[in-house]
Amino acid sequence: MNDISSRFAEKVFNLDTMRQRLPRDTYREMLRCIEDGKRLDLTVANIVANAMKDWAIEQGATHFTHWFQPMTGITAEKHDSFISPSGDGVIMEFSGKELVRGESDASSFPSGGLRSTFEARGYTAWDPTSYAFIKDGVLYIPTAFCSFGGEALDMKTPLLRSMEAINRQAQRVLKLFGHAGVKPVTTVGSEQEYFLVDQSVFNAREDLLMTGRTLLGARPPKGQELDDHYYGVIKPRVQAFMRELNDELWQLGILAKTEHNEAAPAQHELAPIFTTTNISVDHNQLTMELMQKVAHRHGMVCLLHEKPFAGVNGSGKHNNWSIGTSNGVNLLDPGTTPFENAQFLLFLCAVIQAVDDYQDLLRISVATAGNDHRLGANEAPPAVMSMFLGDELTEVLEAIENESAYGGRDREQLKIGVDVLPRIPKDSTDRNRTSPFAFTGNKFEFRSPGASQTIAKPNIVINTAVAESLMQFADALEGAQDFTQALHDLIKGTIKAHKRILFNGNGYDNHWPEEAQRRGLLNLRTTPEALAHLMDEKNVALFERHGVFSAAELRSRYEILLQNYIKVIHIEAQTMMDMVSRDILPAVSTFSARLCRNAEVKSSVAGVACGYEKARCRELSRLTDEIYAICSTLGEAVHHADAAEDTLERAMRYKDDVIRAMDALRAACDACEASMPKADWPYPGYTEILFSVK
Ligand code: ADP
Ligand code: MG
Repeated sequence: MNDISSRFAEKVFNLDTMRQRLPRDTYREMLRCIEDGKRLDLTVANIVANAMKDWAIEQGATHFTHWFQPMTGITAEKHDSFISPSGDGVIMEFSGKELVRGESDASSFPSGGLRSTFEARGYTAWDPTSYAFIKDGVLYIPTAFCSFGGEALDMKTPLLRSMEAINRQAQRVLKLFGHAGVKPVTTVGSEQEYFLVDQSVFNAREDLLMTGRTLLGARPPKGQELDDHYYGVIKPRVQAFMRELNDELWQLGILAKTEHNEAAPAQHELAPIFTTTNISVDHNQLTMELMQKVAHRHGMVCLLHEKPFAGVNGSGKHNNWSIGTSNGVNLLDPGTTPFENAQFLLFLCAVIQAVDDYQDLLRISVATAGNDHRLGANEAPPAVMSMFLGDELTEVLEAIENESAYGGRDREQLKIGVDVLPRIPKDSTDRNRTSPFAFTGNKFEFRSPGASQTIAKPNIVINTAVAESLMQFADALEGAQDFTQALHDLIKGTIKAHKRILFNGNGYDNHWPEEAQRRGLLNLRTTPEALAHLMDEKNVALFERHGVFSAAELRSRYEILLQNYIKVIHIEAQTMMDMVSRDILPAVSTFSARLCRNAEVKSSVAGVACGYEKARCRELSRLTDEIYAICSTLGEAVHHADAAEDTLERAMRYKDDVIRAMDALRAACDACEASMPKADWPYPGYTEILFSVK
């Protein structure tokens, strides 16, 4: 693993490789295609495909695949070899047509009713802005996945559309500040949390195997209360895993940068250096996949579930988002001149308005059954969306709103476009870890996404909602007589209208939801409650206006998300009932019988009272009766939920009745576990799972 710099991105057909491998004209065409989103004509595509194939074969590849991101939230691939018959042998072939477009009989992917099976074929189309790469002897071509009618069946298509939307509107705004022709880009860096557990312990737990989380499990005597794991020394086995993971990621051109232990035992985090949004999304998908693969090689399992264990922190994925220009200027950086400051304030206001107007969509973008365990528990941002700006910036905004003197040095009124903003120390902005949407110096950190989810969804929403603000701003400013005055009025008006979304306090505080309610903010605690808002008129209108989703596409997602929620909880309930009826109840019963026999023997032989045996036996019998009863309540709840015709109603019943029964069942089982000998409990306990990796 020496000399990482020469191995970095060695498996990626990136611009460097293209420059070396393509004829100059073709390379220039490729560049134009990447930079301006121009379509590649077939002659050029043929040359690129051929060069790509030669390069891939030199690297040991035999197959290629169109790699896409269906609405399952994970990636999909189908491999085709390069071989083509020639005489008695074969030659290796790969055409431009095969590169740019693929047909896929992908009828089993969720389409939310967008396709009927007789026209189930969709097609995949190359996204040349995300480079092709080689993994396990296969050339991967990142693609978008659509129906023949052009409807998006994946995560990448709407993401690319949302990037276009925000770029279009940001360009209008930048032009007003004298930056005509400058290309905006949105950037994302996602911090990925995960757990590592020993493979053998994992295999012994039906719940981990089936659902990725523990459905039962008594709390261990030690959790994360000592904070001794957070940023602690990384254990050798984990270190070896991280080394290998980094090496694989680097070869794929993924900028893995930071790694450390997280708050919970067995929990870790990896953060890459940020890059363009769609590449960042692709890279995060690859990172999650490789984490799981590499963990297996080390005899471990990587858990990406949002809440694998009760009682210790769950795993999230902070989505750091910013907007800049293609020449590297960050538009969320306050800058140093009055004009830069004014431009910064306008972009800041665009995000403030976006988060306030589309709180529901942001919440929906992170709504999954798994993430519901995190949001609102005292460890992750609450389900209420709000923004943290830090004291300095908040004071500046207040001063602008009230046209009052800013509390800084000279207590002078701040004139937008004329005065320089006071310096905003970067570290002052990152202190509040409880805010879902925090300004951290020159970017926003959206902390609500769950560890296992694709970050395409939150970025589609952020991009589109901010595009909407920018569009409104550009509309207001383009015709203005006095630009500076109009800008001042716009910024002031936006702050006034949307300041309710700004909250610098403690998001975990019990009073915050009440305060949020007084402010008129939404508190969509669960996935079904959130999803109920997806098809609200304003949301459909937003996505349609910016060409990100048609109403039909959005409805298909609504269906898929609800069904996914239902299925996840259905599987969890079934798994739980299976564990309880086939492992737990028999184990407890056998042990109780042993207690009884022991008591009998002891009292007949020694004539002693056998207080321990009798009390424990009574307690366990009470619990097993309770478990038995709740198990049938759970079965009925599932049955009743499944009977609902309407998908939303079904999801609501799962949320209320099924989850309530599961919680009660867990409580009774955990009480049993706590009073059973470890050797007689059918599963490895929390202590074993959380502290197994050395
Ligand atoms: P920390 O949150 O630990 O203080 P940083 O703030 O430096 O660390 O970065 C956290 C993540 O934010 C990293 O993935 C980083 O690359 C990303 N990031 C930094 N700047 C930007 C930006 N302009 N746009 C998007 N992401 C960014
Ligand atoms: Mg961070």
